[in-house]
Amino acid sequence: MKAAAINPLESAQKQLRVAARLLGLDNKTLNVLSQPKRELNDDIPVRMDDGSTQNFNSLRVQHNDALGPFKGGIRFGPGVSLEEVKALAMWMTWKTALVGIPFGGAKGGIICDPKRFSKRELEALSRGYVQQFVEYIGPDKDIPAPDMYTNAQIMAWMLDEYEKLTGHHAPAAFTGKPVELGGIGARESATGYGGAVVVQQVAKLLKMKPKSTTVAIQGFGNVGHNVAEFLFDAGYKIVALSDSQGAIYNRKGLNPAAAMTCKVEKGRIAECYFAGSVVNGSKSGVITNDELLELDVDILIPAALENQITSKNAGKVKAKVVAELANGPTTPEADRILFEKKAVVVPDTLTNSGGVIGSYFEWVQNSYGYYWADDEVREKLSRILVDAFEKVVQKSREHKVDMRTGAYLLAVGKVARSIELRGGI
Ligand code: NAD
Repeated sequence: MKAAAINPLESAQKQLRVAARLLGLDNKTLNVLSQPKRELNDDIPVRMDDGSTQNFNSLRVQHNDALGPFKGGIRFGPGVSLEEVKALAMWMTWKTALVGIPFGGAKGGIICDPKRFSKRELEALSRGYVQQFVEYIGPDKDIPAPDMYTNAQIMAWMLDEYEKLTGHHAPAAFTGKPVELGGIGARESATGYGGAVVVQQVAKLLKMKPKSTTVAIQGFGNVGHNVAEFLFDAGYKIVALSDSQGAIYNRKGLNPAAAMTCKVEKGRIAECYFAGSVVNGSKSGVITNDELLELDVDILIPAALENQITSKNAGKVKAKVVAELANGPTTPEADRILFEKKAVVVPDTLTNSGGVIGSYFEWVQNSYGYYWADDEVREKLSRILVDAFEKVVQKSREHKVDMRTGAYLLAVGKVARSIELRGGI
């Protein structure tokens, strides 16, 4: 399952063109929105534990800031590429616009294999990123957050470096921080929580009953694990889970909390097969990631990488609903195939926006120095998502298009209008 074969930027631009045509956008605006406003690309030298110095290519792409400061995560990984980061930055612009929070879109990445790094090397790399891009970061400029293979500890190092370099406290410059440094408890699970809210809305719309609704989740990291737990608690039947090294399936249902305990102990989900209780090491129920995507389930949740559902496997997807918790897991060709099959694809810009909404609440609270309880954060987050869900359903029905296009019509239309109000391009 190689993510690199399809260029995610081309997918993002294709999706944009569909919405631009329906909106009647002029070519000048379309061209501006098709490319980032700024692209930062530099090597970070890191002194490794063995005494050598290695350079790691680092990226920050700022797509659009018509609605507010740039906002977007930083991912670490050997497969990170400029095209991928550009696509992710563009999707952030649509996401923040769609859910109505005052941010633009950005994304960052470092091409590296974080699993091979010691803690000290990881800290040096994280601080190096901030040293490289400090002048472009800030609470009113560009606010990074965690993404794949980055976490609250990395945000803490980055914030510390930023404050040292700028000489003042600025907790709102990074979100997804540890609670002690101004993070909010509910941020870490906000994407999964928001995903569960959206899944429950679509289930209600399609009259699915939680108890008899089966769910398969690709990717059992921060997002996949949290959405699994929230849906399990809401009574849904989680039947399949996977990580980069394999998948497990149990049609009677899996307990995601027990699965996570086992994964932490064993290192990979394929070692954890459950039939009510954990049967360690049993190979029965172990399937491949490709098989997981084609399972006969009601809801499929891709929560790992881009380009997982393509023209090659979309015809074999049996789920009635594909709820995109990952960014860009479905290609435009696969979208078309799923739409023709009447499968409902709930787009990433909506389904995984809980993370950036949580980040927005963190930024607001950091700016005011006044903190809300987790319950209040979740309640506010649910309200935004339920409202956005209803608007997307309404827009897609109005134009007889899929939900992705409905979401794009709302988001792209809003960004284009704000550009126009600012005096045009
Ligand atoms: P993570 O690093 O915590 O987890 C990623 C998971 O995916 C890991 O379990 C990994 O083993 C698994 N994985 C990697 N390659 C895989 C493959 N080929 N098949 C199956 N599983 C595979 O990352 P995360 O923060 O959970 O992010 C997951 C996705 O959600 C990404 O697309 C990210 O951009 C998106 N997202 C994350 C957030 C957030 O708040 N963390 C917000 C919005 C969107």
